Amino acid sequence: MGIKENSRRLLKELPDRVELVAAAKTRTADEVLAAVESGIKIIGQNYVQEAEAIYPAVGNKARWHFIGHLQKNKVKKAVKLFDMIETVDSVELAQEIDKRCAQAGKVMPVLVEINSGKEPQKAGVLPEKAEELIKAISPLPNIRVMGLMTMGPRFGNPEDSRPYFITTKKIFERIKALAIASVEMKYLSMGMTNSYTVALEEGANLVRIGTRIFGERE
Ligand SMILES: *Cc1c(COP(=O)(O)O)cnc(C)c1O
Repeated sequence: MGIKENSRRLLKELPDRVELVAAAKTRTADEVLAAVESGIKIIGQNYVQEAEAIYPAVGNKARWHFIGHLQKNKVKKAVKLFDMIETVDSVELAQEIDKRCAQAGKVMPVLVEINSGKEPQKAGVLPEKAEELIKAISPLPNIRVMGLMTMGPRFGNPEDSRPYFITTKKIFERIKALAIASVEMKYLSMGMTNSYTVALEEGANLVRIGTRIFGERE
């Protein structure tokens, strides 16, 4: 099956309350365009360079979410290209985004990435530090915290991801209940090709899917 058919089927299958991010790492501009022409509205990129490479062809036909690990020296470019950064996990990164957005006259919606599996080598803030981080960055005038994102550990069996999605959803609800000034807990980004069904059951309203749309990566 082709990208267009995959995209249409997936969009049809997802509940209306859910937004789909097409995770487009390693894909060509033509592949991404095929997805966009089939109704996909948000493109996710892990690398600023990859987004730059296909941006001229795709541009504002879609919105762009940054879903990779953002290095400080890439923030300036990222701020120009992206409409949301899903992977804020430190005060320093948030401050850099805020500073570059101020220069660009922009306010960036951000999600805070949770290291729900508490994996030492993985990006994301630890679950028990999430509240502290959000309280620290929420006053920054040029970013706006709009929810949480998590990857969770990689498993063959999607059921194994469920506890990590539950953990993240609990943090989401707890922070929402705190009603922190200028924090709008709207998006819960979790679930990929093999786990999105479980993620939806556990409250995700933003899913990031690559393989199911574009096929296996080389
Ligand atoms: C690649 C990627 C995805 C999508 O993974 P698939 O298994 O191809 O659906 C989702 N989120 C992030 C952060 C990714 O890097």
